[in-house]
Amino acid sequence: MTRSRIDAYITEQEALPEVTRESLDAVQLRKLNALLRREHARGGFYRNLPERLDSLDALQTLPFTTEEDLARNAPGLLLCSQAEIRRVLSDATSGTTGTAKRVFYTEGDCESTVRLFMAGLVELIFPGSVTMICFPFSGPYGLGELIAEAVTGLGARPLKLGAGLSFGELKSVLEREKPDTFVGMPVQLLGLLRVCGRGSLRRALVSGDACPDAVLNNCEALLGSRLFPHYGSREMALGGAICCPAHEGMHLRENHVIAEIIGEDGSPLPRGEIGELVITTIGMEAMPLIRYRTGDYTRILPGPCPCGSAALRLDRVRRKSAALSVEALDELLFSDSRIVDCRYALADGELNIFALTAGDFSAEALLPQLRALVPERAVTLTARAASMDDRSLYAGKRVFLKG
Ligand SMILES: [Zn+2]
Repeated sequence: MTRSRIDAYITEQEALPEVTRESLDAVQLRKLNALLRREHARGGFYRNLPERLDSLDALQTLPFTTEEDLARNAPGLLLCSQAEIRRVLSDATSGTTGTAKRVFYTEGDCESTVRLFMAGLVELIFPGSVTMICFPFSGPYGLGELIAEAVTGLGARPLKLGAGLSFGELKSVLEREKPDTFVGMPVQLLGLLRVCGRGSLRRALVSGDACPDAVLNNCEALLGSRLFPHYGSREMALGGAICCPAHEGMHLRENHVIAEIIGEDGSPLPRGEIGELVITTIGMEAMPLIRYRTGDYTRILPGPCPCGSAALRLDRVRRKSAALSVEALDELLFSDSRIVDCRYALADGELNIFALTAGDFSAEALLPQLRALVPERAVTLTARAASMDDRSLYAGKRVFLKG
């Protein structure tokens, strides 16, 4: 088995002879202390933190950075000049302050992300292959654009499709362009496979949202190959962790990101336990964050990866477990092979589900299981056959809607 390309990525970026646990720890402590020193010198957002730490363990004594901090203090968190900013990602809907959370990137941040995407994509695409990219294309240095740059960098051809195409449009792309690879969100891929068939598609990288087992397993069965999950977030410049040939977790870009897993009370959890992912983005030029609470839940896989890389691996990333979760509903509904997509809306005491289906489907048959899963609400399920004019019911992350 070939070693994860994360090793080559890190050795190239850090000029290391090889990636070992010791060399990764040394890179992390050096960069963390450089960041603390700069923050102190410029009197920035983190000016009250110690100027230097003696060990990586001491990071656990520093306070967390929250989404609200990011919304309130984005310019104060900037470590570069405004002139160096190439991209600002803003999320008007997140946070409880009503202020948009903004994350800034420099050209260097974007270049590092493209290199990371290449390290992840090289496992599944090759020179001359054709890749359909179903993430949004939102202008220079946007997610779709950075993926397309990585695909081109590997000598393959990107099809810049975006996230909003109908099944009919996707099917005609499959017939006309004969792509062998798909890059996009998990449910979007399952819908495409269930409505259009796999056509020329053979491999896929999925990211951008939680991927329940029912979605992952059914995509793999229809595609005839293992999926390559990727984890990223705005706070880590869109690229965070990549899948290797072992398909056992995702290797973290540890030269840029220090990961911790914490419990409900904020205390660190041991390897292997699931909790909230906290990141310290020591490698970001524009906006490095210290102990940022991501709101994503996962665990660091214990033990070494069969591929031989020493870079830590994140397990599947989930949302916080709750009495009622989109993930649990997705798990149940997508295990039915006739569900193409579904959308969830909450009203007073009700959960209203709308589903697009393929084949002979009866909502009645699924209702008892849904009611058992959501006993505290009245559940309705409306379904109709998906047509070629339909498209994914969610443009972004799958969430509960109102109504
Ligand atoms: Zn590996």
